Amino acid sequence: MSLRVERDVPLAPLTTLELGGAAEAFVAVESEAECLEAVEYAQAHGLALTFLGGGSNVVVPDAGVSGLVVAMRNRGIQFEEAAGRSVILRAAAGEPWENVVDAAVSRELAGLECLTGIPGLAGATPIQNVGAYGQEIGDQLVSVEVFDREEGMRRVLGRDDCELAYRDSRLKRDPTRFVVLAVSFELERGGAPALRYGELAEACPASASLAEVRHTVLALRRKKSMVLDPDDPNRRSAGSFFTNPVVDDETYARVVDAALARGLVEREDAIPCFPSDGRKKLAAGWLIERAGIHKGLRRGRVGVSSAHALALVHHGGGSTSELLALAGEIRAKVAAVFSVKLECEPQLLGPHGAPALP
Ligand SMILES: Cc1cc2nc3c(=O)[nH]c(=O)nc-3n(C[C@H](O)[C@H](O)[C@H](O)COP(=O)(O)OP(=O)(O)OC[C@H]3O[C@@H](n4cnc5c(N)ncnc54)[C@H](O)[C@@H]3O)c2cc1C
Repeated sequence: MSLRVERDVPLAPLTTLELGGAAEAFVAVESEAECLEAVEYAQAHGLALTFLGGGSNVVVPDAGVSGLVVAMRNRGIQFEEAAGRSVILRAAAGEPWENVVDAAVSRELAGLECLTGIPGLAGATPIQNVGAYGQEIGDQLVSVEVFDREEGMRRVLGRDDCELAYRDSRLKRDPTRFVVLAVSFELERGGAPALRYGELAEACPASASLAEVRHTVLALRRKKSMVLDPDDPNRRSAGSFFTNPVVDDETYARVVDAALARGLVEREDAIPCFPSDGRKKLAAGWLIERAGIHKGLRRGRVGVSSAHALALVHHGGGSTSELLALAGEIRAKVAAVFSVKLECEPQLLGPHGAPALP
């Protein structure tokens, strides 16, 4: 047994929110073999298992996390030439995501350039089908190598097996089953950058290189405090705390009526709304601000980012319960004004006794 399992390890420093209690037991694994050893260790000791990447999309309860928390630290990026101009990039789960984007862009491989600046590790990207500025990892995903805890074996899930959707996947819906070990993407050598997102297309010439697009995305993200920057007062966050609600026509009509009746817009087309698989995707940040929650709002030691209404921030010395109370307040306001229920994007860690996200 080469594993170094520690007891009572504070998790806050391992998360971008810097909140929450300790792990009952904790181990960092640097290879697939160690990861599988950790799974066996948990089984042998009757411990619940929780996996942690870069901690940028999790909320740790103040009471901590019971069982064994396994931090994925297996590294490595490989390339394999495929048909035509396709190249398969395989990243180990513990590889920092920005290294993956950098490896692709610096080799002129198109497909991930708009996903720059997203904190965390490669293994977490399929969990919520990470996306930004017009790209989602699902656009390029070929396969996810997993350990299937239900079957007790290593498996390769194809893209369709992952059932990816907007900020969602089968892996997210079934968190106790799959451990992500590695992720593979199909990229295009010499391919054009994706300029699908309005704000990005406006900021980039149509002839922009992959590196220029990446640079522009980073600049846009920085303005919204959406990169990890130690000098940014909004730096302790989990990115967007709420997903954009995807609603049916009836709910959308209620939103329009509420916005017009309250004088929040003069015309329906002033409400940001995008088609999404036959439904309508609303902008959660717009709903939050129009419901009366403003950027920079503070509730004690937590608040709303001064740069982005969708991000909740921790100002230091706070608690997860304060953060969840603020999230609950925001959800209640949006529900009262628009009759829309906002869903929380980050995952609340802790298989036992964890309070539900509001
Ligand atoms: C400033 C900021 C900006 C962000 N911007 C974006 C954005 O633009 N788009 C976007 O989609 N997200 C964004 N995020 C959210 C977050 O960065 C992504 O969701 C990221 O992929 C999470 O990676 P992580 O390694 O930190 O995962 P963690 O937060 O450690 O884990 C997230 C979830 O995945 C599970 N998990 C992690 N690794 C594994 C594994 N190997 N096997 C099984 N389960 C695993 C965890 O148990 C947890 O449930 C942002 C976050 C921050 C702080």
